[in-house]
Amino acid sequence: MKTLKFGPSTECIPGKVNVGLYIHDGEAWLVDSGLDDEAGRKLARLLEGRDTPLKRVVTTHSNADHCGGNAFLRRRTGCSVAATGLEAVIIENPFLEPLLLWSASPFAELRNKFLQAKPSEVDLIIKGPGPFDESGLSAVPLPGHFIDMIGVRTPDDVFFVADSVFSPEIIEKYALVFVLDVGAALSTLDELAGTEAAWFVPSHAPAVEDIGPLVEANRRGLMRVSEAVWERCAAPASRESILAFVADKFSLSMSVTEYVLNSAAIGAHLSWHRKEGRLAPLVDGGILLWKRTG
Ligand SMILES: [Zn+2]
Repeated sequence: MKTLKFGPSTECIPGKVNVGLYIHDGEAWLVDSGLDDEAGRKLARLLEGRDTPLKRVVTTHSNADHCGGNAFLRRRTGCSVAATGLEAVIIENPFLEPLLLWSASPFAELRNKFLQAKPSEVDLIIKGPGPFDESGLSAVPLPGHFIDMIGVRTPDDVFFVADSVFSPEIIEKYALVFVLDVGAALSTLDELAGTEAAWFVPSHAPAVEDIGPLVEANRRGLMRVSEAVWERCAAPASRESILAFVADKFSLSMSVTEYVLNSAAIGAHLSWHRKEGRLAPLVDGGILLWKRTG
C-alpha cells in the first residue's frame, strides 16, 4: 500500500476514499477508514508493517465509504473512534442512513454496503471546532454535505476536507453530487476559499496546495443543478419529475441506490430555493408540487 507524504507527520493513503494518517508520539491516527472490512484490513496491515499502533480513527462523517472500516479496525487493533455527536448516532446505528434516504424502513435494495456500513461504537464525541485529544489534530466543521461533517487539520498544516469538495471529474460524471443543505455547502465553500493550509486533501479528489479552483468547480456544480431545478419549475413540478428532468439534462443513468441519493440531493436544492423565497410547495391531486413564487 502506497502512501503520499504531505508533512513531517502527515500522510495520505490514496484510494476511492483518501484516508489520512497522522503520527503522534509513535502512534497512528487515521482520518476515515474506507468502505468495508477489506479497506480496514489493508490499513491495519500497513500500520502493522511499520510497527505503529493505531490509536484512533477520526471519522469525518457517517457515510459508509468513510466509516465502513471502523468495525474491523476496532476489533483487530483495539483502536478508538472519534466523531461528532450526530454522525456518531449513525455510525453506531447505520440502518439510519438508508432510513434517512428513504424516509421509512428501507427496502432490501437499499440495504447494501454503500449505504449501510457495519455498526461500530464511537468512543470520543467531538464537540465543536478545535483540538479534541492529545494528538493536536483539530476539527473543522464543514456543514452541507452531511448532517454534522467535519474536516481535520493536522499540526503540520495539512487539512483533510472530507466531502466538502469533489473532483471536477466526479462533478462532470455525476452532475448531482450528494448534498443535504445547499446553502450550508455554499457557505462552507466560501469558508474554504478563504482558508490557508500547506495542503488540502479531499476524500474524493487528489490533494491540492491551492483549493481555489476546486472550490469554484464545486460552486459551479451546485449552481447548475439549482438552475436546472428552477428551470423545471416553470410549471409546478414534483420532486420525481424534477429529478427525471435533471437526469435527462445531464444524461444520468441511475441504480436504485443512486436514485435515492440523487432524490435527496434534489430535495436539498428544493429546500434551498424555498429558503431563498424562490419556490414554494403545494399538494395538488395527491402530489407534492414545487411552484415558483411571485
Ligand atoms: Zn464520501
